[in-house]
Amino acid sequence: MENCCTCLKPKATLVCGSCESAVCKYCAQFLDEAQFLYLPEIPKDLKHTTYCNSCFDSKVQPAINDYEKVVRAAKGIITFFTADSKVTRNFKRTDKPFTVKDCAEKEEVLMKLAFLAVLGEYNAIIDIDIKSEKIRNGSRQTTKWSGTAMPAQVTSSRLL
Ligand SMILES: [Zn+2]
Ligand SMILES: [Zn+2]
Repeated sequence: MENCCTCLKPKATLVCGSCESAVCKYCAQFLDEAQFLYLPEIPKDLKHTTYCNSCFDSKVQPAINDYEKVVRAAKGIITFFTADSKVTRNFKRTDKPFTVKDCAEKEEVLMKLAFLAVLGEYNAIIDIDIKSEKIRNGSRQTTKWSGTAMPAQVTSSRLL
């Protein structure tokens, strides 16, 4: 067995996905596949499941911190659905709509749309339209969710 790059004991049975160093199961850091669920595109370095300590600390942890900041901001995004068009009809719609596809849940679509709004430095998403589609796979049926929304900058005077 190879020596673990962290504790140096000859017990390394795993490999860091990023730097490919041998690492033992006690020193390895594992990344949940759903950790970066709302990211529109997951960078290559964050797609592994197993990391050595130094890669985790230098590449993964800072990305998790940034990601969680955006998630917090996304939860505070102002949301208006297509049914709210009376309220939002005078809002400026100058940018391209966001599209989100292939989500397991409605909530995931909304969070992904809000996440895109934060990344684009908007504070609202309007004209939110979320749809579901039933997909048959043999005898099993699953539901896929997708949605669109317009990013917007909403000021409080417009909300009154
Ligand atoms: Zn070790
Ligand atoms: Zn590594």
